[in-house]
Amino acid sequence: MTLRLTHTAKTYPDGTEALLPTDLSVGKGEIVSLLGPSGCGKTTLLRIIAGLETPDAGSDIWFDDDNVTALPVERRQVGMVFQSYALFPNMSVRANIGYGLKMQRLPKSEIDARVTEVLEMCQLQPFAARAITALSGGQRQRVALARAIAPRPRLLLLDEPLSALDASLREILRDELAVLLREFDITAIFVTHDQDEAMAIADRVAVMSHGRIVQSGTPEDLYRNPTSSFVAGFVGNAMPLRGKADGTKLHLNGGTLTLPMDGVGQTVFVRAEDVQIIKNGPLRGKVETVTFLGTHYRIGISGIASDTIASIHSGQVAPKVGDTINVSIKPETLMLLPDEADVA
Ligand code: ADP
Ligand code: MG
Repeated sequence: MTLRLTHTAKTYPDGTEALLPTDLSVGKGEIVSLLGPSGCGKTTLLRIIAGLETPDAGSDIWFDDDNVTALPVERRQVGMVFQSYALFPNMSVRANIGYGLKMQRLPKSEIDARVTEVLEMCQLQPFAARAITALSGGQRQRVALARAIAPRPRLLLLDEPLSALDASLREILRDELAVLLREFDITAIFVTHDQDEAMAIADRVAVMSHGRIVQSGTPEDLYRNPTSSFVAGFVGNAMPLRGKADGTKLHLNGGTLTLPMDGVGQTVFVRAEDVQIIKNGPLRGKVETVTFLGTHYRIGISGIASDTIASIHSGQVAPKVGDTINVSIKPETLMLLPDEADVA
């Protein structure tokens, strides 16, 4: 189904404006991620869509052509997955997955068939009879997903479903989830504060800050064409190069940089992969840190801009801490964004 929110906002009883009037459309089968720092309103927006939270007057929520704004959660046919798996610990995997179907009073044969289908999809067959307490965190999260999908919801909502898992497992499950969601062929909204997770899973990412969606686009689009310093920093860790702009020249502590356009009134951003350590580069700085990361080194360099800037260095050998080095940054890799484009 398609989801459409118009002018949807939430002010909590204590006056907190958790969500400012927001418009959002999600296409059929599209997977959209709500990405933003803690407290920016992601969960509030998700709970409003689910029907767990009543939005302010003037808000409208559409599931296809149905206005569901006043519809209670149990009639919206949404599936939900949370960080805390909220499974029934004393019941088996099979019973957990079948729970929602039982509540719908489906015939037993139908429940069995559907649970088997979902068990297979989520590769949980070997654990069907196990108690939840005998599963790992990753397996539990897969059960939670299977349980959410079994009743064939119109919409799947996931709120930081991987946050409770340790880092290595999180990465595996992230890729697995990206595949599964597409296999389910369901419209889904995936909430996260982790940019890598959002980029790996979503077709489109809506970046949120202080109760607003500040930019929405494909992962590539957000990465390459951020429209605010907040998005540039949050998606892909772009670093500000603060200096004095004079037309297309930017005077920094470590030298002068050529800009792709007039830089007056703009903040210039660069990403670590675009900072090249090169013999005759026009900028000069000092190596502060060298971190070996297997596929590359991450070099922290002081003296170029007011803050230390990072460079991704993929050579076999790296400079040493304390070395003076030269750096080049291609003008076309720089991003110029209006000063104070965002309050975040
Ligand atoms: P996120 O999920 O992005 O971390 P939330 O939607 O949970 O953000 O919260 C958004 C803002 O609303 C925060 O400032 C939070 O403290 C506030 N908030 C959340 N729930 C309530 C509530 N029940 N009453 C008052 N304020 C709330
Ligand atoms: Mg939250």
